[in-house]
Amino acid sequence: TVVTRFAPSPTGFLHIGGGRTALFNWLYAKRHGGKMLLRIEDTDRERSTNAAIAAILDGLKWLGLDWDGDVVHQFSRAARHREVAETLLAQGRAYYCYATQQELEEMRETARKEGRPSRYDGRWRDRDPSEAPKDLKPVIRLKAPTEGETVVEDEVQGRVVWQNKDLDDLVLLRSDGTPTYMLAVVVDDHDMGVTHVIRGDDHLTNAARQTQIYQAMGWEVPKMAHIPLIHGPDGAKLSKRHGALGVEAYRSMGYLPVALRNYLVRLGWSHGDQEIFSTEEMIQSFDLKNIGRSPARFDFAKLENLNGHYMRLSQDEDLVQAVEVILPEIGPERGLGPTFPPELREKLLAAMPGLKERAKTLVELLDSAYYLYAQRPLRLDDKAAGLLADGRARLAGIVEKLEAVDEWNARSVEAVVREHAEVIGAKLGQVAQPLRAALTGRATSPGLFDVMAVLGKDETLSRLQDQLS
Ligand code: GLU
Repeated sequence: TVVTRFAPSPTGFLHIGGGRTALFNWLYAKRHGGKMLLRIEDTDRERSTNAAIAAILDGLKWLGLDWDGDVVHQFSRAARHREVAETLLAQGRAYYCYATQQELEEMRETARKEGRPSRYDGRWRDRDPSEAPKDLKPVIRLKAPTEGETVVEDEVQGRVVWQNKDLDDLVLLRSDGTPTYMLAVVVDDHDMGVTHVIRGDDHLTNAARQTQIYQAMGWEVPKMAHIPLIHGPDGAKLSKRHGALGVEAYRSMGYLPVALRNYLVRLGWSHGDQEIFSTEEMIQSFDLKNIGRSPARFDFAKLENLNGHYMRLSQDEDLVQAVEVILPEIGPERGLGPTFPPELREKLLAAMPGLKERAKTLVELLDSAYYLYAQRPLRLDDKAAGLLADGRARLAGIVEKLEAVDEWNARSVEAVVREHAEVIGAKLGQVAQPLRAALTGRATSPGLFDVMAVLGKDETLSRLQDQLS
């Protein structure tokens, strides 16, 4: 059976690229009825934090990606990593190296002068242990092959070949007895029964070195798929401005997880020209062979359009709940508390059919609902103020006509507004625009008569009086 894994280093939030890697692993496992495991690569003790672990788990959960079994913490397996290094040592596949920092620096310096990549020259590879200095703690290095080739048959990159003479003897265990990243990943992937390693192509060179460790241990090398990294719209490395953010930032910007998932799956993978995938469809169609070899470009406009699409498809109540999730973050700067007062919540729900037609994000949705939570007297934005100044005269007398409406609903107020326009010889829009400006403080809003119905008679009249008197 297929076993994939997502193996983030907890040195920061769940990056958008990490989210995509997790999604691909999750889809591949689901597609084949397999498992996706989660391994926290926390061996860098200085940079790993519990806050980052929590952020990664939260980000995965929010994206709707679950994992099988318990979370594996790499650091807790250090004894096992050491054991494997010692096994290799005992088998003559690895050796103690006593090269000093100064010697290593000299090797680097020589390489720099000769204009070639630096490599360890293997000076302890064949030395007799009796020559070991007593006062130095050695590292353990892999006795890597010096001739021939190391080959990775990558599911995405194809056959990638390294000349062994270009790869030096990598360190497996540091002098303080801690495993290197290279060793830990191989031992963990092997012990966890991982069959497919799907990760960013920044790990492609690591794949060659890891392959050498697998071969030294006589272990089967898992299938590998190295996915091109995500680039910005200009083709350059993804910058913050262009989307290089944590998954939680997308949450705060008001994207729905279902939309982000759909957006991410199309970043580097395609299925004909289909753009919209339900989760079920994604699982059914996902494969490795349709992952492209060139970097995908991040495009906020596309993400927004997808998000708008999924918002329109969402149930009104679900959208209110989605806004509530981020309200503690986006409410205060809009004069709202961390939760909706029940009355406002009801109004928001009633207005949702009109609101969700226009908004591309949950933040836009809340902004376009401004008229529902605005405090009187409303502060009009510039456009609205202009429209009202322009059309104020056309609203003369309309308050009295609206006061006379008994049964207040979208239809009854529409009839009054239309008749008013007719009587003064204006087009409907010439009355509706200043009216909208006065009632919502904005130049655009959901349908005006729906707005008036949701606001109710008292609030509508009060707002008009605020602006017209
Ligand atoms: N921990 C590594 C990273 O976050 C990933 C290692 C791997 O997938 O093999 O980049």
